[in-house]
Amino acid sequence: MEIVLENLTKKFPGRGRKNKKEVVAVDDFNFTIPDGKLVGLLGPSGCGKSTTLNMISGLLKPTSGKVLFGDKDVTNLPPEERGVGMVFQNYALYPHLTVEENIRFPLENFTGKDRLSKEEMRKRVEEAAKLVHIDELLERKPSELSGGQQQRVAIARALVKLPKVLLLDEPLSNLDARLRLQTREEIRRIQQETGITTIFVTHDQDEAMSISDLIVVMKDGELQQIDSPQKVYDDPANQFVAQFLGTPPINIFEGTIRDQKLYINEDAVLEASGLPDQDVVVAIRPEGFILDENGRMENELVRPEVSGRDISILFKNPAFKNDIARAIISSDDWTHIPHGKVRFDLKPHKVYLFQPEDGKR
Ligand code: ADP
Repeated sequence: MEIVLENLTKKFPGRGRKNKKEVVAVDDFNFTIPDGKLVGLLGPSGCGKSTTLNMISGLLKPTSGKVLFGDKDVTNLPPEERGVGMVFQNYALYPHLTVEENIRFPLENFTGKDRLSKEEMRKRVEEAAKLVHIDELLERKPSELSGGQQQRVAIARALVKLPKVLLLDEPLSNLDARLRLQTREEIRRIQQETGITTIFVTHDQDEAMSISDLIVVMKDGELQQIDSPQKVYDDPANQFVAQFLGTPPINIFEGTIRDQKLYINEDAVLEASGLPDQDVVVAIRPEGFILDENGRMENELVRPEVSGRDISILFKNPAFKNDIARAIISSDDWTHIPHGKVRFDLKPHKVYLFQPEDGKR
């Protein structure tokens, strides 16, 4: 099911006594989520991810704009008439019901021509349980399950209605690090096996990068970029996106373009043909540096940090905005040990230029 958001906006009235200013939680979103994709809504806390998800599910009514499922305008339909399955952060399982009863629960509410026989329900529950690999646990109560297993039950319960869209709100945030890795692969597998259009909310860029077909990057209720993970990383739309994605984070320098060359702290580090003279923000990925005794960019070595395959070179440069910058090079390239000064050349495709005032390119 393709999902289209048209001028979708949600405003909340100010809550505080003093702060009456309304909050624009989602500001004029226009984008299409293609059928059968796994899409991550990514951004810092409070940027409007859950609000967006809840307007897609029907739990929240937009202030203005539309939500379309395929050609159908569902903006005014309640959740149960949209054909969505939802999974929440806290799983929201019924503690007094067994796993089987929990998964079956949504089916019991089907009425009229949708009513299912006991046998049909049993089959559906079994299929959903198999899909998420918990068919051995049907007799247990939620309290007898690990966090990861509870999350699978919640996913099975969302899938048992055969929804056209699966929505997950921070599905991994209550799991420990190891289970989080495992469960995110599970979500990917389940999505690929069912082909169901799936949208999940996360503030964790690794999570979004590792399993999504498309990432929607948001900040302060505003859409920043919607693209494949690789494209968002390699071709960030603005400084915020460049800084939000990537671990270790991108390095930000003050730079100048003069006579078609990019200068960082008086070193002409790259050609900048066709660009007018101006001050720029220069964002360089840690893997964008080439260690070279004759490199064009001179810096002060702080120390190398060895971690097996790679070496991080921590360095200072007067044009670097924070304290210490980081270059990552392969340990194979660690052929000479610099003293005091360390020089780099730059890989042009790992260097992004933004305008200082608004962070736009
Ligand atoms: P996220 O999911 O990215 O953390 P939310 O969508 O929950 O962000 O919230 C976006 C903004 O809207 C925040 O500033 C939040 O405080 C505000 N907000 C969310 N829900 C409500 C509400 N029911 N009433 C008032 N403000 C809200």
